[in-house]
Amino acid sequence: MSECENCGEDATIKEPMTYNKSAASRFKICQECEYLSPTLNMCKKCLCFMLLKVKLTWEKCPIGKW
Ligand code: SF4
Repeated sequence: MSECENCGEDATIKEPMTYNKSAASRFKICQECEYLSPTLNMCKKCLCFMLLKVKLTWEKCPIGKW
């Protein structure tokens, strides 16, 4: 693991998700979630755009749904 010199966070380059079925199953959970704003597909908890976030392997749902 490499650390960012400024903030100390893990700065390791991570592979994006390549298996689209996992992203699709994450997005399905979001679509059924009360915190998803359907107009922009944006999560009201983390303020992320979910069509992108679900594809990033290291990301997590802020309330543990996935
Ligand atoms: S990331 Fe979690 S809280 Fe946000 S919309 Fe998806 S399931 Fe809901």
